[in-house]
Amino acid sequence: MKEKGLILIFTGNGKGKTTAALGMTMRAAGHGMRTCFIQFIKGSWKYGEMEAMARFHKEIDFHVTGRGFTWKSDDLEKDKAAARKAWEKAKKVIQSGEYHTVVLDEFTYLLRYDIIDKEDVLEVLRGKPADLHICITGREALGELIELADLVTEMKPIKHPYQKGVKAQKGIEF
Ligand code: ATP
Ligand code: MG
Repeated sequence: MKEKGLILIFTGNGKGKTTAALGMTMRAAGHGMRTCFIQFIKGSWKYGEMEAMARFHKEIDFHVTGRGFTWKSDDLEKDKAAARKAWEKAKKVIQSGEYHTVVLDEFTYLLRYDIIDKEDVLEVLRGKPADLHICITGREALGELIELADLVTEMKPIKHPYQKGVKAQKGIEF
């Protein structure tokens, strides 16, 4: 058995993808290992996780990027430009050698909606530092991404309280 830096993907329509990435981040932080957590959709940051991560400021750097480029967009071109800029930043972070883990949260959408170049992403992932772990979250991960990854978990929704009209609650959703 050996050790290697992994590419991990948490995808699917069920709840728990970002939570799983946060859990890994906390686990690494407990060992004093550093994580850079990059959130690709503005507005998806939740107060609870931001406050918790801020308490681990030595171990965790986090960045909110993008403009929330989907659904409610008023200017799609600006959103795409912001997402591309965020990816350029992520590349530098990946190559920096400063982190044990880099999390690209809600990243799958950039590929799914052709906002950034797929080949570029695959090349960067293939050429990542050998011991770096990269964790990607988001629904509808592309087949090529899944193929490249070492670990893929699909969150499958069975029940969600939303379906019964229960609203988002503190400590569970934010
Ligand atoms: P979390 O951040 O709670 O781990 P996630 O990252 O798996 O969730 P996203 O696709 O990023 O899920 O969506 C975030 C929000 O959408 C969360 O508030 C989550 O509860 C909600 N959500 C996720 N899956 C479902 C579902 N199947 N039905 C209704 N709401 C959902
Ligand atoms: Mg999420």
